[in-house]
Amino acid sequence: PTMDANQSESLKIAVIGAGLVGSLSACMLGKRGFKVDVYEYRQDIRKSNLVKGRTINLALSHRGLKALEIVGLDNAVLCKHAIPMRGRMIHALDGDQKPIFYDALEKQCIYSVERKYLNELLISAAEKYENVTFHFEHKFIKLDSSTNNLEFENKKTGEILHTTADLIIGADGAFSAVRREIMMKQPMFNFSQTYIEHGYLELCIPPTNDDKFAMLPNYLHIWPRSTFMMIALPNQDKSWTVSLFMPLPKFSDLDSPEKLLEFFEEYFPDALGLIGKEKIVKDYFATSSSHLVSIKCRPFHYKGKCVLMGDAAHAMVPFYGQGMNAGFEDCWILDQLFDQYSKNTDKILEEFSRQRCDDAAAICDLAMYNYIEMRDLVNKKSFLIRKKFDNILYKIFPSLWIPLYNSVTFSSMRYSHCIQNKKWQDKALERSMQAILILCIPIVLGLFLKLLYTE
Ligand code: FAD
Repeated sequence: PTMDANQSESLKIAVIGAGLVGSLSACMLGKRGFKVDVYEYRQDIRKSNLVKGRTINLALSHRGLKALEIVGLDNAVLCKHAIPMRGRMIHALDGDQKPIFYDALEKQCIYSVERKYLNELLISAAEKYENVTFHFEHKFIKLDSSTNNLEFENKKTGEILHTTADLIIGADGAFSAVRREIMMKQPMFNFSQTYIEHGYLELCIPPTNDDKFAMLPNYLHIWPRSTFMMIALPNQDKSWTVSLFMPLPKFSDLDSPEKLLEFFEEYFPDALGLIGKEKIVKDYFATSSSHLVSIKCRPFHYKGKCVLMGDAAHAMVPFYGQGMNAGFEDCWILDQLFDQYSKNTDKILEEFSRQRCDDAAAICDLAMYNYIEMRDLVNKKSFLIRKKFDNILYKIFPSLWIPLYNSVTFSSMRYSHCIQNKKWQDKALERSMQAILILCIPIVLGLFLKLLYTE
């Protein structure tokens, strides 16, 4: 890969975390010719098996793809490693399946991509820049405020290492040490975290005996059961990663194979048939449920020195499929700001927080809302009628009436504007209904009077 020549006079940047966001950010900064050191707590995932506690696949959509395009990786992902999902396939209790398409114009879809593949691709792409170095099994400990040194622990040797950086990028996930050790110590830093009362556990629907997908592959399958739900995303090997979301105590209640099978027979009989009784018992009791947390903070930066990105800045519940996409969008917004302000990191980071904090808070809120939509509203007539209305108006005015899901998933509209846009649409629909009602009153009255006088 080639670096952008005009920027090659180096800034020394420490990226903490080589997850999806840290490694994409390293690619973009490496492309600019900066000296980038990436410190990752875990071992190199290219040399390890599945990372425990991480979801197997993710829904990649417009914002994520746009960021991958900057480093020329969008096609690599789309061509061979992404399975298009054109809509939600809703599974009723009796096994009946009904699709709800994401895009009424039937052009756009989201993609199921394997996390491990994507992360490996990004690390390898970043590593191709000779100015980018990965330090695996290096845990960020703290910033020594007296010396301005960053402190790391080498997990293999236990050795403590010190280094300096002009810019620190905290891409170390929801429980970010950069946020805790640097940002929390700054005055005027706001932070909040909310655990929802629901957790999740992953199961698997294997391929059929003749090595085919056991369900229609180009959908995100959902079993909405009002207070809980199950979803499934397709994998390259024709299996499905199934995530069961429900209140945490419910997981503890299902503490024997009998109770588990009874529960699946009652609520997900078709899925039980596809997973198989033996496998579900084995898989369910081999793992435990995970918590879901939503994190907001503000600002995302400290002077021109440190910035939080991805889950470190805005972890969200996973129901809009936007966590990674929003994190990737952070990367391209920062990249654009480097174009705009060259290497003035004071200005770049200030502007990053200014642009991004409201949007991150907006997508955290939208993600919370979408859980109710996915597990409950999709079963409701009112929701389906509104969806029909939205789709008709979207078909007639595709650039004026963009439904909420489409603006979030298939556009780069600022997340906060997506919410405003929805509010505007709600008001417009409400006013139209009122106008129709008012227009109807004289007609109904007229008909009534006519009937009265003809009798
Ligand atoms: P992480 O992936 O958490 O990476 C952080 C990295 O930092 C890790 O490698 C970690 O080892 C490292 N690290 C941590 N502490 C230190 C330290 N002290 N020193 C050095 N390194 C450190 N998003 C979507 O867009 N679409 C989806 O469909 C989707 N589905 C999801 C489903 C579930 C169940 C969940 C929980 C999340 C889902 N997400 C989805 C969200 C997505 O997983 C995250 O937004 C994304 O992983 C964030 O990437 P990140 O790089 O910011 O953080």
